[in-house]
Amino acid sequence: TVRVRIAPSPTGNLHIGTARTAVFNWLFARHHGGQFILRIEDTDLERSRPEYTQNILDGLTWLGLTWDEGPFFQSKRLDLYRGAIQTLLDQGLAYYCYTTEAELNALREAQKARKEAPRYDNRHRNLTPEQRSAFEAEGRQPVIRFKIEDDREIVWNDLVRGKLTWKGRDLGGDMVIARASKQGEIGQPLYNLAVVVDDMDMKITQVIRGEDHISNTPKQILLYEALGAAVPEFAHTPLILNEKGAKLSKRDGVTSISDFKDMGFTAEALVNYMTLLGWSPPDSTQEIFTLQEAAQAFSFERVNKAGAKFDWAKLDWINSQYIHPMPASQLVDLLIPYWQKAGFEFDPVGERAWLEQLAAVIGPSLSRLPEAVEMSRMLFTESVELTAEAIEQMKKEGAAEVVQAILDTLGNYPELTAEQAQEIIKTVTKEKNVKKGLVMRSLRAALTGDVNGPDLIQSWVLLHQQGHAKARLQQALA
Ligand code: GLU
Repeated sequence: TVRVRIAPSPTGNLHIGTARTAVFNWLFARHHGGQFILRIEDTDLERSRPEYTQNILDGLTWLGLTWDEGPFFQSKRLDLYRGAIQTLLDQGLAYYCYTTEAELNALREAQKARKEAPRYDNRHRNLTPEQRSAFEAEGRQPVIRFKIEDDREIVWNDLVRGKLTWKGRDLGGDMVIARASKQGEIGQPLYNLAVVVDDMDMKITQVIRGEDHISNTPKQILLYEALGAAVPEFAHTPLILNEKGAKLSKRDGVTSISDFKDMGFTAEALVNYMTLLGWSPPDSTQEIFTLQEAAQAFSFERVNKAGAKFDWAKLDWINSQYIHPMPASQLVDLLIPYWQKAGFEFDPVGERAWLEQLAAVIGPSLSRLPEAVEMSRMLFTESVELTAEAIEQMKKEGAAEVVQAILDTLGNYPELTAEQAQEIIKTVTKEKNVKKGLVMRSLRAALTGDVNGPDLIQSWVLLHQQGHAKARLQQALA
């Protein structure tokens, strides 16, 4: 059965790139009825933090990317890695290396002068016991290196990129798999080793990860072989690019899932958008679908090799496609926190019916949830300041008269329905013998203080219910 994993390092909040990789893993697992496993790669003790782990777990949960096993923590599995390193040492496939930082620097300088790529020259591969003791006596702390033969050829059939071939000599020489420690001991195990041991132990069948890991794959394949394990399949997913076509990075501003959440994107829309970052469904005109629908259709045949450009306008559009049809009873719960944060005074329980009506009125105009704050500000406050355009509108010929006429009739309506509101407008239009547009625009300016905004009739009804409508009209006429 298919077993895939996402393996984030908790050195920052859940990044959109990691989340998109999680999406592809999740889709692949669900498509094949397999397992999706979560592993936290927290071996970098200095940079890993528990709050980042929490942010990653929260983000994946919010997006609906549920995992079947885990979270596993690499920091709790160090013995497993050390066991594997010991096996490699015992079999002569790994060795203690005493080369100092200074010697490595000198080596790199010399290679640079010869215009060669930097690589370790494997100089401590075959030390005699005497040489070893001499280095020990000097107090040198050895790292552990895994042997990589120059003439090895490593080939794999990448599920995204097709057949890829690497030469042993291009992998930088024998690779460090454990940090420095005393002879006979094993220091901190390093990334490539830990990943392979975990993927073996967790019986991972496909490693699906970002393209930035491609150069680790040949090294990891050699480790699988040395440890006597079957090599999984690999899929390297395209990078996410910014508007300029460079890799999306922290410098592009918003990159973490919690930021997108704060900006008012819904989880369903964001996950829908991420699915399209590098993949397209068989019917490529379909852009709105649930995770379950995408899972049904998902395959690596439809994953692009080229990087995927991040497109804010498209994300906004997709978000609006999720917000617009949402029932007001559901939307209101998403909006209440933003209204509260804006400092509007209301009772979320007692005034729920009114708030729901408000959500229904502004919902169709929203593409990001926080836009609800400015769109509904004038409905929460008793009085508004007219914008310059609204003042202009009130100065138009006939404007004050129609607003006065509406004001005069309002006393007859303790409650106001949308039908009655329509009726009032019709009557005033006829009585004053003006264009309906003038009535609508003037009423909007007077009521809302602006010339644009959500549906006028609905806003009027809501304001009337709040008891603000008359005062607004009076104010505008003053
Ligand atoms: N910890 C690695 C990262 O955050 C994951 C590498 C992998 O998926 O193999 O990029």
